[in-house]
Amino acid sequence: MLDKTLTIGGEQTATAGTFAVHNPSTGAVVAQVPNATEDTLNAAVAAAKAAFPAWAATPDGERQEICRKIAGVIGAHAEELATLLTQEQGKPLNGLGSRWEVGGAQGWAGYTAELSLPVKVLQDDDNGLVTLERRPLGVVGSITPWNFPLMIAIWHVVPALRTGNTVVIKPSPNTPLATLKLVELLNEILPAGVLNIVTGDDKAVNLGALMSAHPDIRKIIFTGSCATGQKVMQSAAPTMKRLTLEMGGNDAGIVLPDADPQAIAEGLFWGAFINNGQTCAAMKRLYVHDSIHDAVCDALVAYARNIPVGDGMDEGSILGPVQNQMQFDKFKRLVDSAKVNGQVLLGGEAGEGLFFPPTIIAGLKNGDPLVDEEQFGPALPIIRYTDVEQALADANALETGLGGSIWSRDIAAARALAARMECGSVWINKHGAIQPNAPFGGRKQSGMGVEFGEEGLLEYTDIQVVFS
Ligand code: NAD
Repeated sequence: MLDKTLTIGGEQTATAGTFAVHNPSTGAVVAQVPNATEDTLNAAVAAAKAAFPAWAATPDGERQEICRKIAGVIGAHAEELATLLTQEQGKPLNGLGSRWEVGGAQGWAGYTAELSLPVKVLQDDDNGLVTLERRPLGVVGSITPWNFPLMIAIWHVVPALRTGNTVVIKPSPNTPLATLKLVELLNEILPAGVLNIVTGDDKAVNLGALMSAHPDIRKIIFTGSCATGQKVMQSAAPTMKRLTLEMGGNDAGIVLPDADPQAIAEGLFWGAFINNGQTCAAMKRLYVHDSIHDAVCDALVAYARNIPVGDGMDEGSILGPVQNQMQFDKFKRLVDSAKVNGQVLLGGEAGEGLFFPPTIIAGLKNGDPLVDEEQFGPALPIIRYTDVEQALADANALETGLGGSIWSRDIAAARALAARMECGSVWINKHGAIQPNAPFGGRKQSGMGVEFGEEGLLEYTDIQVVFS
């Protein structure tokens, strides 16, 4: 079993208390992890605050050079990080699992290191020089979820560091291991105090809540559920923290009558079941036109049947278990409720431990809990429609607005309909594909602000206008 320490001010730091991290595939304890107190958090914030002036004053090119090295560090330790991820998260090493996630983290780090925010000249004439410049904020608090812990850590940390901020990161209690290792490794290339980590079990002490209210943290970058994001916003108000909130979704896909069921089956499956459905922008509701409804269901079920589900450490597994008991219980309740009105086309019954096979349920509609609530597990409800305007209205009816997709052979018609979906990203004939040069964020209650690209980088800065 592993014993992990925190990295605070460049030092490996133990705490009096620890908590256990379990492997969702087996239930075994993988590691004991520091259970930080409020004092531990204060020490981490103080270290980040002390490191800020020198890091902010480091010439941009030098900071960029250090950020470039982050991708190399991830690449050099890829297998170790992937193994930790599989052990704590449950996702398989293979498929769109932990090796893929580590590769994504490396790619995002490399791309983000190359971004920069040059000074904008607003005016340069006889009346004077006016420039718009970007200043780092100070200490950034990063709060991450358990579904893609390593990739999301990189999404938070690299733009913050690139723009001259220092960071305290707090991973989910369910998945702290790969992030602890990442921060330890990155401290070999970063000045002490620039990147610090705290972990806790969210029981006696809720570190995320303390971070959101902390007077010395200038911004929170949060990825997690809508309910927790709302709490972050509330507790951030008294200190006017900058916020980027990447929250839950309940993405709809709409299959138009001209789509080819065989051609889209694979894309539909992975759009919905990537990471076992535990993906913020996975397709969680599928509206299919009556004329091809049965053919789409048949093609999807035929594809889904052959996906190997098993222990993430087994090289043959492509999907793993649900990550934790709370999520499993919520997911099972939603699937059970769907059996009342729906027809189970595949799966539907829990397996051993936290395993649940890919589940496809037809005959549902808006108002059914599996359609209305974010299930965050391996199930896809299918809703039959006859009027595309009604399907669009149903897709837009919920308060969330993260992603959406249209499936059709007519790309122009699909793009026109896509523009009317109330969500931050919309895809044609695919779902959930994200890339580091395309800003990603939620509309409506799925969040505020964006990550990635120049727009994402801007969120780690304040504007200063200089007049001379
Ligand atoms: P969660 O909201 O339960 O936890 C997220 C993080 O918040 C954890 O680190 C947790 O410890 C911390 N936290 C708990 N209480 C807090 C508080 N009061 N104040 C501040 N932080 C607190 O989410 P989760 O279950 O870990 O992740 C699943 C959710 O995340 C889903 O809803 C999913 O859609 C969402 N998500 C969104 C995105 C996105 O980019 N929009 C990406 C991944 C996941």
